[in-house]
Amino acid sequence: MSTTDCDVLVVGAGPTGLTLAIQLLSRGVRTRLIDQDPGLPKLSRAIGIQPRTMETLDMMGVADRLLEIGHRGLRTSVYVGGRRQAGIDMTCADSEYAFILHLPQHRTEEVLRSRLAELGGKVESGIELLGFIQDADAVTASLSDAEGREVQVTASFLVGCDGSHSKVRRVLDVPFEGQPYPFDWLLADTELDGGGRNDEVQVHCGPGGQPLALIPIDGRLWRVSAPMPADRGGAAPTLEEIQGLVDARGPGGIVVHDPETLTCFRCQIRSTDTYRRDRVFLAGDAVHIHAPTGAQGMNLGINDAVNLGWKLAYVVAGRAPDTLLDTYAAERRPAAQQMMAFTDSMVRFVIETSPLKRTLRRAMMPLLRTPRMRRRLANRMAQLAIAYPDSPISQPGRVRGLPTPGARMPNIRLHDGRTMNEALRDGEHVLAGPDDGLPGRVLVRPDGYVAAIGRDGHSSAIDDYLQSVRTPAHSGR
Ligand SMILES: Cc1cc2nc3c(=O)[nH]c(=O)nc-3n(C[C@H](O)[C@H](O)[C@H](O)COP(=O)(O)OP(=O)(O)OC[C@H]3O[C@@H](n4cnc5c(N)ncnc54)[C@H](O)[C@@H]3O)c2cc1C
Repeated sequence: MSTTDCDVLVVGAGPTGLTLAIQLLSRGVRTRLIDQDPGLPKLSRAIGIQPRTMETLDMMGVADRLLEIGHRGLRTSVYVGGRRQAGIDMTCADSEYAFILHLPQHRTEEVLRSRLAELGGKVESGIELLGFIQDADAVTASLSDAEGREVQVTASFLVGCDGSHSKVRRVLDVPFEGQPYPFDWLLADTELDGGGRNDEVQVHCGPGGQPLALIPIDGRLWRVSAPMPADRGGAAPTLEEIQGLVDARGPGGIVVHDPETLTCFRCQIRSTDTYRRDRVFLAGDAVHIHAPTGAQGMNLGINDAVNLGWKLAYVVAGRAPDTLLDTYAAERRPAAQQMMAFTDSMVRFVIETSPLKRTLRRAMMPLLRTPRMRRRLANRMAQLAIAYPDSPISQPGRVRGLPTPGARMPNIRLHDGRTMNEALRDGEHVLAGPDDGLPGRVLVRPDGYVAAIGRDGHSSAIDDYLQSVRTPAHSGR
């Protein structure tokens, strides 16, 4: 009989915390999800959901709801002097979701909240984490309730999904290393006329090389985004200022009007090596932040939560040893580093103003147009290239025609008619084999990555994995 108030206390109900709470509740873990905000903030933040995230949201049973309300972006194009010079074509991505789904973050969060409610969960709004202590058995957290009273809650584990200014990270005294970029980013979510194709993100490079991004949010709204080499102290731009930037850097003939938000922010690139300290974990923006270029931050956070969720559920249920939880950092830290390097290279690509480097950049562009490079870039952007081959739980092995251990499992159709992602909705491992059209057996983890493979018949790699995680595998049939 547990003596804690809950198994897991999730701090922060942004996309990371909501996803984690769904992962835990769907596996019967006693979970509390708190957020200091009194309601759902409607700030202008993420608008792009990447293909890999759509796949994981499919495993959570919410991809269709998002598809109904989202807008499909097929590619990102870089225009110089009005001519398309380079880009990333998402239709080349190896996924059934070969596009970026554009949807304001608060609407994505609404869908996640509705799934949470279906599972009997809720966001406890207006509850702030003040601090915590931990010992060998539990974490004791101090919370301030909606009336400002301080209350104590005990949990077996606490996860800080509390964003870039994470209180949890600060209590752990974990450094958040990195630096701000040396420019401010101006943003307007606005209506506009003359924007052209609304199925692509357009990045226009003005005569001096300074970029302007035009991102269709839906059929009506666009996000206009432009970096400025100055420190404005956070002062929001006026609509006239945005129009001036659009005229100076854009293709001409675009008129912005009726803005919903006008903001300025200074983005940073920062991360930490510490994803876990004993019973306390960090996830999402609490462990990595970077420029919004390429639409990756929310996606990384959601996929952190999917990675951690099943592992916590297994350990809480006594179905796996505590060491399984160490694989969260071993797998997700390299993934974050990879995506941070990718966004940083994109920032440098678009903000380069040195004439020499711009000439070199132009010379490189044909290389990006080869079919191999287009597919590679799309898969990288889509977070489909993230894999865990070096994870301590990925069992070595190679069988011709099967994905390698640690790789993402493609969404194959199983012989019972379900897709792999549908089978993974049960929250367990799935064993697929020759009946499912495979040239051997594949054990797939609950987060859709390959745990172990084997030829038909006995597989010591699959046995070894099951022994290390101590879990019964559910057959795909
Ligand atoms: C302009 C902009 C555009 C972006 N575009 C994209 C994009 O297109 N695609 C993409 O993937 N990402 C994008 N991002 C990044 C994305 O918004 C973040 O990565 C994402 O919100 C991180 O989610 P999170 O849940 O980890 O943190 P957050 O969304 O920051 O949520 C943290 C939550 O914790 C709560 N909290 C904080 N402290 C406490 C406390 N002490 N007690 C209780 N609750 C607390 C907060 O109230 C908040 O609700 C963009 C960001 C910006 C700024």
